[in-house]
Amino acid sequence: MPRRCTVCDHPERHRIDEALVSGTPYRSVAKQFELSESAVYRHKTDHLPAHPLKAREIEEVARADDLLDQVRTLQIHALDILERAEKAGDLRTALFAISQARGNLELLGKLAGELDERPVINLNVSPEWLELRAVIVGALEPHPAAHGAVLRALESVGNG
Ligand SMILES: [Zn+2]
Repeated sequence: MPRRCTVCDHPERHRIDEALVSGTPYRSVAKQFELSESAVYRHKTDHLPAHPLKAREIEEVARADDLLDQVRTLQIHALDILERAEKAGDLRTALFAISQARGNLELLGKLAGELDERPVINLNVSPEWLELRAVIVGALEPHPAAHGAVLRALESVGNG
């Protein structure tokens, strides 16, 4: 099993990186965050990017992290409302929840893209998306016109 880096795993990693990038000695950083000096040194030499992010950029990444959490929370609420609206047979609210959830997914994809080096999430392979898609399509089956319209809209999002 590969050994994890205690600094990379640290909940305050962004602050640690920020301190290291702004030139704080690794000994002080180790002390401040109650980490071993060797772990901080190793992290500084091995894991900080070769062209370190500027402090402001690190701050932006930290803020995006926060945003990501908030959007995830919103998404949980939207899916919860969707489920309850469906159970109550309230398709108007269900549709509204679907459009909210779709917006959240787009935002999540965008934020994840900003945080990761990887390209923006492909919605078609996201399990959350596939699940949501099945729910949406299933909910609208009794309403062929809405079913078709939503399906077309979903496909355009998936392909976009
Ligand atoms: Zn590390």
